[in-house]
Amino acid sequence: MTSIEPGTDTNPTKGEGDLDVLVVGAGITGIYQLYRALESGFDALLVEAGDGVGGTWYWNRYPGARFDSESYTYGYLFSEELFDEWEWEEHFAAQPETERYLNHVVDRFDLRRHMRFGAAVTAAEWDERSGTWLVRTEGATTGDATTVRTRMLVAATGVLSVPFLPDVAGRERFAGVQHHTGRWPAEPVDFAGKRVAVVGTSSSGVQVVPAIVDEVASITVYQRTANWCTPLNNRPITVEEQVELRAGFEELREVLNTSIHGFHHPMNTRTAFEDSAEERRAFFERMWASPGFMKFTSNYIDILDNAEANAEWCEFIADKIRSVVNDPDTAERLIPRDHRYGQKRPPYVAGYFEAFNRANVSLVDLRETPIVRMTEAGIETTDGEQPFDVVVWATGFDFGTGAMTRMGIRGRDGLALEEHWADGPTTFLGVQTHGFPNLFFPGGPHAAAGNNPRYNGDQVDFVTDAIVHTRDHGYDVIEVTAEAEERWSEMIDRAAAATSFGTIGQYVGGNIPGKSKRYLLNAGGRPKLFKEIARVKNTDYQAFELSPRSDTTSRTA
Ligand code: NAP
Repeated sequence: MTSIEPGTDTNPTKGEGDLDVLVVGAGITGIYQLYRALESGFDALLVEAGDGVGGTWYWNRYPGARFDSESYTYGYLFSEELFDEWEWEEHFAAQPETERYLNHVVDRFDLRRHMRFGAAVTAAEWDERSGTWLVRTEGATTGDATTVRTRMLVAATGVLSVPFLPDVAGRERFAGVQHHTGRWPAEPVDFAGKRVAVVGTSSSGVQVVPAIVDEVASITVYQRTANWCTPLNNRPITVEEQVELRAGFEELREVLNTSIHGFHHPMNTRTAFEDSAEERRAFFERMWASPGFMKFTSNYIDILDNAEANAEWCEFIADKIRSVVNDPDTAERLIPRDHRYGQKRPPYVAGYFEAFNRANVSLVDLRETPIVRMTEAGIETTDGEQPFDVVVWATGFDFGTGAMTRMGIRGRDGLALEEHWADGPTTFLGVQTHGFPNLFFPGGPHAAAGNNPRYNGDQVDFVTDAIVHTRDHGYDVIEVTAEAEERWSEMIDRAAAATSFGTIGQYVGGNIPGKSKRYLLNAGGRPKLFKEIARVKNTDYQAFELSPRSDTTSRTA
C-alpha cells in the first residue's frame, strides 16, 4: 500500500474536474454501477486494475472456465433491447463468450470512455473537511500513478479477485510454467504434450482437468479434499429456445428479480421423506440430469438440513462416481468423506470423473502424501518427486474481503479498513460500514449465496438510490449509523449460525491461513435484503446519517 503524499492534491474540496462517483472494478457489478451512476446524472469514472473489461471473467480465463448459472440468468436484465440482441450460444457460457458479452455491454452503452484500465487502487483516504475520497491508482505494468478526488467511492471489487497461492516451499525454484487459475495469462498456455499438475479440486480445478485432457501428455491431480461434484448438463441453446427466451423476457425478469436465490429454477416444497425410497431414487435421478444449480435449488427443501436426506443424496452421488470411474480405488478417493453436500459450495462438472479413466490421468491424495516442496523439476510429496512442465494452481481466493482490505482504505480519523474488519467484516446491507462515509461496496462481503449478478444488482440499485437521495436532498455525506450496522451484522451472524451452507472453506475464511473465521455471505439472502431496503426507504433513510461536508454549513434540503 502506498500512502497518498500530503500536498499531491491542491484542491481540497470537490470542485471542477473532481468526480461524483468513482467505481473500482470492471466486473459485472462495476459495469452496472457505472451505468446506473451515469444514468443518474453523476460525473462518474471507473478504474480497473486489469487491462480489459470483465473482472472475474477477465482474470479467470483458464481452460474450461464457464458459468454454472444459466447464461441468460447471469446477464443484465435492465435493458430488453440488450437481452434481445445478445444470443448466448450455450446454456452455460464459457469464459470467452462472457468476456465478449461484457465488452459488448460496455460499448453498447458507451461506457468505455468512462473507464481507465491498468489502474489499481493502492490508497483511498477520506478527507473529512471536503467530504470526499482522495484515491490513488497505480498501473501494475506502467507504474503510472494518478490521484483522483471523488465524492462517492464504490468498490465493486468482487469476492473472488485476490487469488490464494499456498505457501509451498521452493515454488519460485520450479523451472516450468505455473499459473493460478485466477490470474490466467492472456496468451494461451501451451499444454500440447506437456506433463501437467493441477493442484486443487474445487470449482476451478475440476473445470481445468477435462478441458486440457485431450492435449496433454499427462495430468496429475493433487487433491486435498474431494468435493460433491455433479454434472453441469450444459448444451447449446436451440433456435426455438432463443425465440422462447425473447418472448418470455418479462416473465423471466420477474422471476429472477424476485426469486430467493436469483435463479429461475422452481423451489421444491417437498421434504425428502414425504416420498417413498423408490420415489426419492427417481427424484435424485431427475436432479442428476438437471442443469447446474437446479440440483441445489430444486432439490428437496430439507436436503441441506435433514442429515438423513443429505446422506442419502450423498450416497446417490457416491454411487454415480463409482459407476463412472473404472478404478475402484480412485473412485473411493474421489468421494468426499469429511463433509456433507452443501457444506462447501458444490462444483458442477462435465467430464471430470470420466477423465480419471484415461491412462494418462492420475490422482494424488494429499491427505495421504502431502506436498513437501516444489523442486526445479516438479512437485515433491512424502511419496517422492514428480516432474512437470506446467503446474496449475486452482487453489482459490481470499474470498469476500480480500480485495477491499488490500486497497489502503482509510476512513474517518485514518481508520484502516483492514483493522476495522480484523475480526471479519461488519456491514449494513453488505454495502456500507460505519466510519467509512460515502464508501459503498456492492457485491462484496455479506453477498448472497445464489446467482451473484442478481443480488449484486439489487445492491447497485440501492447504492444508486442512496447517492441520488443524498444529492437530491442537498447533502454531501452519507454514512450508515453504528446501530443499523450492528442490527444487520447480528442478523448475518444469526443466519450464519442457522445455515449449513458453506460453513467450511472460503465462505468462512477457512481456506486462508490466519484469516478470521466469520461468515462472509448473507445467509438471510434476498428476502432480508429486500426487507431492510424497504425499511430504509419507508423511514426516510433513518439507517444513515446525512450531512453537508464539514467545511460548509450550507444545507439545501
Ligand atoms: P476453492 O473452492 O477455494 O478451492 C480451492 C482448492 O484448492 C480446494 O480443492 C482446496 O483444497 C485446494 N487447496 C487450497 N490450498 C491447498 C494446499 N495448500 N494444498 C493443496 N490443495 C489446496 O477455489 P476455486 O475452485 O477457485 O473456487 C472458488 C470459487 O470460485 C467457487 O466457490 C465459485 O464461487 C467460483 N467459481 C465458479 C465457477 C463457475 O462454474 N462459475 C468456476 C470456478 C470458480 P481444500 O478443499 O482441502 O481446502
